[in-house]
Amino acid sequence: MKCVYCCNEIKDGNFAREHVPPKSFFKKGTSSLITIPACRACNNKKSSDDEFVLNILSMSDLISINPEHQFHIDKMLRAVKRPQKVGFIKEILSSTHTAVTSEGSKNAFIFDESKVSGWAGINAQGLLVHEEHIEHCNYKHSTMMLNLLKVEFPDEKQLLELILSLTKSTPSKLVGSSEFKYWIQTQDEGYVVIQCFYEELFFLTMVER
Ligand SMILES: [Zn+2]
Repeated sequence: MKCVYCCNEIKDGNFAREHVPPKSFFKKGTSSLITIPACRACNNKKSSDDEFVLNILSMSDLISINPEHQFHIDKMLRAVKRPQKVGFIKEILSSTHTAVTSEGSKNAFIFDESKVSGWAGINAQGLLVHEEHIEHCNYKHSTMMLNLLKVEFPDEKQLLELILSLTKSTPSKLVGSSEFKYWIQTQDEGYVVIQCFYEELFFLTMVER
């Protein structure tokens, strides 16, 4: 069996069942989560990226609207208070500044958006492995992140329209109660994968052969 991330053959004892999206994004006891095979090294690397993204989501206003998901944000906020997170918090605090938005001045911090998008792209690969049984190592992918409720610029509006038209023309799959939904569209040159977390945070991944 091959690892879905590095495409190397998984040797005995080196096997890890990888959750896509990560288990930590769902309520405890959520059944029918998606799993794919990975090697331990890739699984560990992915776990630390998962945690980074969860921390960013909990501290930003990227997800916050739906009271259904408040328990989740509380859980993440408790997690970032752990002593081993001091470095992460310091890094975030050092970039804190006041941002002027259409809704007035807000406290803001800088984070590596490409790291979050890259993480979502890897999730998209995992979903393709699960659904289409492809060997993703032969595919190139790029991912864009968009919050449904915070679209301000013309480019974002265009992207949102594209996402909404694709979600209307393609059947969706739901994981959990409302934590995660995804759409996969097969095209001649590859795939389009749309992921929606917590009903408001969208990622659009273009996957080329
Ligand atoms: Zn691997």
